[in-house]
Amino acid sequence: MDSAYTLCEADLHCHTTASDGLLTPTELVFLAAELGLKGIGITDHDTIQGWQEAEEAGKKYQIQILRGIEISTEWQGKEVHILGYEVNGSSDHFNERLRDLRRAREQRMLKILARLEAQGIHICVAEVQRFAQGESIGRPHVAHALMERGIVSSIEEGFEYYIGKGASAYVPRYQLTPEEGIELVRAACGVAVLAHPGVRHLEAGIPAWVKAGLQGIEVVHSDHKPEDEKLFRAIAQEYHLLTTGGSDFHGEVRKPGVKLGRWGVSLDVIQQILNLAQHN
Ligand code: AMP
Ligand code: MN
Ligand code: MN
Ligand code: MN
Repeated sequence: MDSAYTLCEADLHCHTTASDGLLTPTELVFLAAELGLKGIGITDHDTIQGWQEAEEAGKKYQIQILRGIEISTEWQGKEVHILGYEVNGSSDHFNERLRDLRRAREQRMLKILARLEAQGIHICVAEVQRFAQGESIGRPHVAHALMERGIVSSIEEGFEYYIGKGASAYVPRYQLTPEEGIELVRAACGVAVLAHPGVRHLEAGIPAWVKAGLQGIEVVHSDHKPEDEKLFRAIAQEYHLLTTGGSDFHGEVRKPGVKLGRWGVSLDVIQQILNLAQHN
């Protein structure tokens, strides 16, 4: 049994099999209900494929679903992730841009496999695809294939030795700037929130991103230390931004120790986001 932990009402940062999570949207919502959560945010990388199934399961298990997405951008050599909540999923422009981002992911995958091949590790696309059930492929799927082969003993090790930044088969990916990411979300009437800013110490970028339309900061996150939470809560207050939070749940094997609902916010934050989205 897992040791007991205090549960939040709403975990606003969760991945499903639509991108690099291990649980299907239905399984994720079911787990949330089993744990006693009231709401979750579905924030897959570069895809909204998980929304519909999550909403159907949400009705069945009485879990409020916040529609979201996580978009990777780059600033000064650092990864900056932008969460977009309640974006208009019917926007043609938005969907076209997401398709471009997913295509870039596929192209990068081929390059990563070529680099592994050059090191004598033969993994074909189909083998990676076995671990990618959704439309957004990513490095965790390659890491999983490496683990299944026994080449590494964990996803983490796959990143450390092969596909993480600076490792032997690392390939950078086409990334937007944070401003472009924020504009993409805002153009689709969504609420743009800066994800886990404590991980790469992004405080210096925030004033410019607020000018570009940033409306919230993810203050509570599984990778944040207490001092990160304190710093970014103060910054959010200074700039009158929403404070959000979530675990970044991917499933136990993909992100060991990151438990659903252990990091999050009260349910009223979902309502705050919905209110803001209505005026966007
Ligand atoms: P990608 O989106 O393809 O660039 O892959 C990045 C994803 O890999 C992140 O969203 C995390 O889920 C995961 N990830 C990044 N770094 C690590 C790491 N060091 N160990 C395990 N998973 C990681
Ligand atoms: Mn991920
Ligand atoms: Mn992220
Ligand atoms: Mn995430």
